[in-house]
Amino acid sequence: MTARRFFTDKIENVTVLTGEEFRHAANVLRVKKGDEVILCDNTAYEYPGRVLSVEKNSLSVKVEGRRKSDREPQAEVTLLCGYLKGDKTEVSVQKAVELGAKKIAVFRSEHCAAYMNENKLARLNKVSAEAAKQCGRSVAPEVVYFDDFAAALASVTAENKFFACEFAEKDEAELSALSSSAAVVVGPEGGFTAAEAETAKAAGFSFLSLGRRILRADTAAVAALALVMRALGELG
Ligand code: SAM
Repeated sequence: MTARRFFTDKIENVTVLTGEEFRHAANVLRVKKGDEVILCDNTAYEYPGRVLSVEKNSLSVKVEGRRKSDREPQAEVTLLCGYLKGDKTEVSVQKAVELGAKKIAVFRSEHCAAYMNENKLARLNKVSAEAAKQCGRSVAPEVVYFDDFAAALASVTAENKFFACEFAEKDEAELSALSSSAAVVVGPEGGFTAAEAETAKAAGFSFLSLGRRILRADTAAVAALALVMRALGELG
């Protein structure tokens, strides 16, 4: 069985897991003394080790090495997605982490029907960490929230900026010449307004078409990211 991964802020010779990571290891995965594990500290490195002891509220790991993760993407890709109802944003976050997004921003826009709060944002970050562990990454991308759509767009520093626009008359995305960083914006269930599309254009985003059919927002996030990741050599 593949060694289980756990995230911690600080790696030491003997690293102690507490809190949520401890509970997941001890109570859910039933990790026990002598098991091989991999510790990650949200850097490009990962640390194989072995469980020394499992206590009531903590678990100690003897770190046995340090190696560069071969699962972290080279490309810097950001997903910006409208906040969705129910657990749909969790789906987008999970898939984005698996596909190799390095940054994830969730925004509120005019046609958003859902409201963010602290607990929901914490939940999205938990989903990111779970997805990172599941697919073997050493970094769980932080999920941040913007209450303001223009501020979300302005936060993007990527060289290539795409706006998945369901009503774009023409696909402007030149994916064959992509360089190392890209950002993709996907709207909420209600889609974008014409004014929001104009704002994105003014901020330097190119319209990306995902075909003639209207995709659900979470499907569109996966499709757009897959196209960009493939163009950047991160898939296949
Ligand atoms: N309510 C909108 C409508 O009926 O036209 C559909 C919004 S769609 C469910 C949510 C988001 O997914 C869109 O804002 C867009 O970002 C993306 N999307 C869905 N289908 C798309 C397509 N064919 N091309 C580009 N983007 C698409």
